[in-house]
Amino acid sequence: MERLVEIEMFNSEEENIERSLRPSAWNEYIGQEQIKKNLGVFIEASKKRAEALDHVLFFGPPGLGKTTLALIIANEMNANIKVTAAPMIEKSGDLAALLTNLEEGDILFIDEIHRLSPAVEEILYSSMEDFRIDIIIGSGPAAQTVKIDLPRFTLIGATTRAGMLSNPLRDRFGMSFRMQFYNTQELSKIIAQASLKLDKEIIHEASMEIAKRSRGTPRIALRLLRRVRDFADVAEELHINHTRTQYALNELGINSHGFDEMDLRLLNLLVSANGRAMGLSTIAASLSEDEGTVEDVLEPYLIANGYLERTAKGRKATRMTYQVLNISIPQDNGALF
Ligand code: ADP
Repeated sequence: MERLVEIEMFNSEEENIERSLRPSAWNEYIGQEQIKKNLGVFIEASKKRAEALDHVLFFGPPGLGKTTLALIIANEMNANIKVTAAPMIEKSGDLAALLTNLEEGDILFIDEIHRLSPAVEEILYSSMEDFRIDIIIGSGPAAQTVKIDLPRFTLIGATTRAGMLSNPLRDRFGMSFRMQFYNTQELSKIIAQASLKLDKEIIHEASMEIAKRSRGTPRIALRLLRRVRDFADVAEELHINHTRTQYALNELGINSHGFDEMDLRLLNLLVSANGRAMGLSTIAASLSEDEGTVEDVLEPYLIANGYLERTAKGRKATRMTYQVLNISIPQDNGALF
C-alpha cells in the first residue's frame, strides 16, 4: 500500500498540486502561532533596519510546513529565494556557485541541511558568519586561496534531525524553531482552505474526520483530502460530505486514530515485547527501515500522542498502546508502565 507519510515517494503531479495549495501569506498559514509571532517581530525589525534577516533554522518531522514558512518569509521580506536541498550540493564548488550568485537580501533555503558533507559545511560557516568564502584554486604547492566577499543574505535551513547538525553549524543560526504537530481544528481549517482552492467544498464534519486521521501533519491532511475528493468526484457529489469521507478513508485503510500501516507495524512490534523496551536498531531491522526514519518520521507523532515512550533501555509501548490495539496489558510487567 502507498505510504501516505512518505514525502520522497511523490510523483511530480502530486508535487505540483501540493505547490498550488501552498499558502503564500501569514493569514493562510494556520497554526504554529508562537513561531509566527516571533518571526513576525524579527521580520519587522530587520525590515525597519533595512537589513537582511538573521539566519533561521526550522526543525521537525516532514510535512509540517517548514518549506512553506521559508517561502512566506521571502514574501514578507520582499526577497528572492533560492530553494535547494543538501543532497544536491555535493561539492564545495556547488555551494560556492550558489552563494556567489546571491544578491543583497536574498534568501537561500537548504532543506535536509543535516545531510551536507563536512567540506561543504565548512564553507557554509564562514559564509554565514563573515559573508565571505575562501576558495582554493589549484593544488599542491601552487595552490592559492582566493577570498570572495558575499552579499548579506539569509540562510534558512530545514531539518528533520536537529540532533545531527554539528554544533558549529547550529550555533550560526540566529533563530531556531521547533515545528509542532497540528491539532484537529487547525488541520480542519487547512483542509477547508485547500478544498476551496481545489474548487470542491468540504463540509465541516468531513474536514474534521480527515483532520483526525492525518497524524497531525498538513501534508498528509492535504493528500487525504485529494484522495477523498476523488471518491466524491466519482460519486458525482457536489460537496465532500461526511459519509463519503468516512467511506473513502476506510477504503484507503486509514485508521481512526490517525495511524497508518507503518505506525501499526511499529506499535504491534513494541507490544510483542511484552512490556520490555526494544532498541532502535532492532526496531529498524524488524521494520526494514533505517534508524533515522524510525526516529524522525515514525516516532515523533507516536511520542507526542502518548503511544510510545523512549527510555534509556529503548522504546516501549505505553498503556494507551495496548488499549488502542485492544491487547491486554501484560500482568507481570504492569509495574513497568
Ligand atoms: P516541510 O517543508 O516541513 O516538509 P511543507 O512546507 O512542504 O512541509 O508543507 C507541506 C504541505 O502542507 C504544503 O503543501 C503546504 O501547503 C501545507 N502546509 C504546511 N503547513 C501549513 C500551514 N501551517 N497552513 C496551511 N498549509 C500548510
